[in-house]
Amino acid sequence: MAETSFDLAVIGGGPGGYVAAIRGAQLGMKTAIVDIRDKLGGTCLNVGCIPSKALLHTSHLYEAAAHEYAEFGIKAQKVALDLKKMMEHKAPVVDATVKGVDFLMNKNKITKFVGTGSITAKGEITITPAKGNPQKIKATNIIIATGSSVAPLPGVEMDEKRIVSSTGGLELDTVPKEMIVVGAGVIGLELGSVWRRLGAKVTVIEFLDHILPGMDGELAKQAQRLLKSQGMDFKLSSKVTGAKSTKTKVTLNVEPVSGGKAEQVSADIVLVAIGRRPYTEGLGLEKVGVVLTDRGFIKVDDHFRTSVEGIYAIGDVIGGAMLAHKAEEEGSVVAEIIDGQAGHIDYDAMPAIVYTHPEIAGLGKTEEQLKKDAVEYSVGKFPFTANARARAMGETDGFVKILADAHSDEILGVHIIGPQAGDLIQEAVIAMEFGGSAEDVARSCHGHPGLSEVVKEAALAVGKRALHI
Ligand code: FAD
Repeated sequence: MAETSFDLAVIGGGPGGYVAAIRGAQLGMKTAIVDIRDKLGGTCLNVGCIPSKALLHTSHLYEAAAHEYAEFGIKAQKVALDLKKMMEHKAPVVDATVKGVDFLMNKNKITKFVGTGSITAKGEITITPAKGNPQKIKATNIIIATGSSVAPLPGVEMDEKRIVSSTGGLELDTVPKEMIVVGAGVIGLELGSVWRRLGAKVTVIEFLDHILPGMDGELAKQAQRLLKSQGMDFKLSSKVTGAKSTKTKVTLNVEPVSGGKAEQVSADIVLVAIGRRPYTEGLGLEKVGVVLTDRGFIKVDDHFRTSVEGIYAIGDVIGGAMLAHKAEEEGSVVAEIIDGQAGHIDYDAMPAIVYTHPEIAGLGKTEEQLKKDAVEYSVGKFPFTANARARAMGETDGFVKILADAHSDEILGVHIIGPQAGDLIQEAVIAMEFGGSAEDVARSCHGHPGLSEVVKEAALAVGKRALHI
């Protein structure tokens, strides 16, 4: 008979949930995982990070072959897009990754249940599958990791045909002639880039007066400049207040945020990417008394404990940075806390990455935050144009900027726009985790010729002694 009594049950099999389950099992807990989807991996693996990165990669290859190879002496003639095939490339990538999670569940002897999990009493979860009878399991500890879903835009109903969310935006079967992206955050800019590279005329409409909210202002400005030079248009300080769809077109009503005359803009596809909201539907939280915040996130303390003993929550559903690696860190740490260990996450040392071309990566404090907090800081900046490897690759746009405490030289923030920024930021993560200074990075030997030399030079520049500029 299948096991029904566990030390730990995790509701939600995304990057937060499945990592929590693995760590719990590693620590000797008899562990179960419950997900509505048969395919574990959550938003990230099924309709988020992984399929979007597959499309970002292949659309970049297409654009490079069509427009950029010539400058490297490669004649790629008659480059043509096979969108169906490009879309098909995603499926095995997602499948292999999802199967990998199933393998890890089996390896760690974690029992998987498919169905909607509701907490029906303290230590009890009722699992209701799409077909068949509900089943009850018992668990001493429950972790809620049910993630998030697409935030709706009032007046603009997503039909996933003409008006799409990120999920529909990953599945279009033709390249739109014109696409409007509502929201200039990470997802909007990434998916907007995909469709622009494939031939769409993309306009991004954003409520704020800048793109990439939360990122360093100088980085965001440079990102906008570069994306604009690639052909992406921006309409900032504008709000979308309504939409009308026909069979072939969507017309949006757009108003200036500061007031004034509304205008109508049309496109064949509108992608709504204004954010994500916590997903708590069907969990039965009110019944057991789990308290939510004003914005609907599950309220937790710094040990991920909810208002009910024995019930914890992590990942997108508790808010903060809605990122897969944040959910994963919280997954590991909450299992260790349940095991009686000390759990700690330094959220300042958590990178945020935008996988546009070039990539954009931010870590720690932005200049705006340091100014607001009246922290005295030094800035070291170095451009990719002065780096031989970047020149060899033909990827000289962008810079590395390091912000360090003016007195102690401790690194407070690192902001990179440029080739492989998402990987380059990792050395800064380690430096910050160790409480490192700009001097520490500046004195570390970096392989030549490498893009990471730009990080070293930016660290040298904090002490006004960059060598190669
Ligand atoms: P989720 O991944 O959302 O998983 C929650 C799971 O819980 C789901 O599988 C759901 O089916 C299940 N569930 C919900 N309710 C129940 C219930 N009652 N019973 C059982 N199961 C339930 N982040 C990055 O770090 N890098 C990226 O490049 C990136 N790209 C993204 C691109 C897109 C297009 C999108 C949409 C998101 C992207 N993200 C990215 C964000 C990332 O996907 C999320 O931050 C991450 O998936 C959150 O993990 P989670 O475990 O909290 O929740």
